[in-house]
Amino acid sequence: PTFRSLGVIDPLLEALEQVNYKIPTEIQVEAIPHALKGRDIIGVASTGSGKTAAFALPILQKLWEDPKGLFACVLAPTRELAFQISQQFESLGSAMGVRCVVIVGGLPMIDQSVALAKKPHIIVATPGRLQDHLERTKGFSLRALKYLVLDEADRLLDMDFDSVMDNILKVIPKERTTYLFSATMTTKVAKLQRASLSNPVKVEV
Ligand code: AMP
Repeated sequence: PTFRSLGVIDPLLEALEQVNYKIPTEIQVEAIPHALKGRDIIGVASTGSGKTAAFALPILQKLWEDPKGLFACVLAPTRELAFQISQQFESLGSAMGVRCVVIVGGLPMIDQSVALAKKPHIIVATPGRLQDHLERTKGFSLRALKYLVLDEADRLLDMDFDSVMDNILKVIPKERTTYLFSATMTTKVAKLQRASLSNPVKVEV
């Protein structure tokens, strides 16, 4: 298969050419067609599989089709991973003027509050700092969220983000699309899956 045969649109095919992704990886082949149909996805895949583009491309494609409507939040377990995810959104979405912010601990809250006030399309966050902003940054909420991505869910849960995740799930719309990616399917991940996804397609590589 090619990215085109998976249903990816021209502006993104051009971006893929620029970053030199010639052939979709297995997780991309499995996940992208379902994601483009609007399904929730559970992806059992680890770093190196190409999972980031597997969720970034469908989100960016929706952004292209509906530039005003989209607002996605990606939760990642570490700062490093959050920056990597943001870089992929920016490189794949540069032609469509995607606005992406990284919300992680260890950096000034105030700069992040200013960035959030500009209404980014994509927020890539670690859960603790996202919760801080939900509690303290005036005017910021996730009430308009259309997409939630839980990346490396097993690690998110290992780091005792459980209660933070529960709090975040409480303040986002039930009507949304959710993608959950995890290297392993533990009992805790299965529980999070039941709490956060609706009728998902499971893809495993
Ligand atoms: P990930 O598993 O998302 O962390 O991706 C692992 C690495 O593979 C990253 O450096 C990506 O830029 C790269 N990558 C993702 N998809 C493709 C692809 N279809 N072709 C070539 N490289 C890719």
